[in-house]
Amino acid sequence: MSRIYLDHAATTPVAPEVVEAMLPYLSGAFGNTSSIHSFGQEARGAVEKAREHIASFIGARPEEIVFTGSGTESDNFVIKGAAHALKDKGNHIITSAVEHHAVLETCRFLEEQNFRVTYLPVDEYGLVDPNDVEKAVTDKTILISVMHANNEIGTIEPIAEIGAIARSRGIYFHTDAVQTFGHIPVDVGEMNVDFLSASAHKLCGPKGVGMAYIRRGTRMTPLLHGGDQEKRLRASTLNVPGIIGFGRAVEIAKSEMDSEMQRLTSLRDRLISTLLSSIGNSRLNGHPVKRLPNNANISIAFAEGEGMLLSLDMEGIAVSTGSACTSSSLEPSHVLTAIGLSHELAHGSLRFTLGRTTTSAEIDRLIEVLPGIVERLRDTSPLGRKG
Ligand SMILES: *Cc1c(COP(=O)(O)O)cnc(C)c1O
Repeated sequence: MSRIYLDHAATTPVAPEVVEAMLPYLSGAFGNTSSIHSFGQEARGAVEKAREHIASFIGARPEEIVFTGSGTESDNFVIKGAAHALKDKGNHIITSAVEHHAVLETCRFLEEQNFRVTYLPVDEYGLVDPNDVEKAVTDKTILISVMHANNEIGTIEPIAEIGAIARSRGIYFHTDAVQTFGHIPVDVGEMNVDFLSASAHKLCGPKGVGMAYIRRGTRMTPLLHGGDQEKRLRASTLNVPGIIGFGRAVEIAKSEMDSEMQRLTSLRDRLISTLLSSIGNSRLNGHPVKRLPNNANISIAFAEGEGMLLSLDMEGIAVSTGSACTSSSLEPSHVLTAIGLSHELAHGSLRFTLGRTTTSAEIDRLIEVLPGIVERLRDTSPLGRKG
């Protein structure tokens, strides 16, 4: 049985072109970018080329890109680094209730260090209201962090508007763009951001490499101290093969993004409309239009998400119930709770995230098997009611 992967928000398969680009840097071209000899020069040259591709892709300068070990590290670096650097100016941070744990847990950690954090609520679609941001600002606010698009429900936030508010008040603005970078347009100028996080493995690049965009002239304290790599903002020997793979993945995204956005949006909309009409008592989570082209999140009443996931897995179809990080706990997802879903509906939710290798036939297969699975689970469910 050929397996169907519909969990691209958790991670993506590495593109064959990316593997090919990385291979030389895992063998012959193994130099350390800090070395002066030809091995070092070779690695350094390749890394700087990748940095230029990535910077130009988001309208940044190469020197504003800091390579990190993950999206999580970028979020930690930016939030802790800006908070530390600005602690003489204020101690208040504004974020949203639907951020990734990499942002939320970093903020909780800072609350233990005498910072104050406002977690803004969202509406039924998962949208942050820019007016709420404006109202939350105080003379002690030093940083605002709102994600570009949500990893669970796919909602795209009004980043440019929030950025304009931050800029007019002289407050630094960070966006976690891990789900959007390489998937929909990301431009640091248009978005009015000072900091941005991205991760290679969410766009067909390798795991273990990310980047932080740090606008020139911003104050920032490093997380890792040591050598003078990355302009002393992130000590560590650079992950050269990873960075080369990241650069290649960005080149692919640059050339394919427009057509992929169209293709995936149409597959996504067919998936959503067919499932909502063939499964009673089901609803779409997130915004109908302001959503990632590859994300569909559906709640199905009187059926357990976990049971549906396992039944689909037995059919060779991989999906997720909420975010991968929370799927092992029984707590309902903080995102589904924040948009006002009952515990029951939150537990009956499935996330389908499409990607570069997703075909129309794979969507057909999902649409074919899921209604039967739901019916079977509802028949045997202790909830005892059919939808
Ligand atoms: C995956 C993800 C992260 C974490 O990135 P890693 O590279 O896996 O650490 C952070 N934020 C969002 C929105 C994500 O989807």
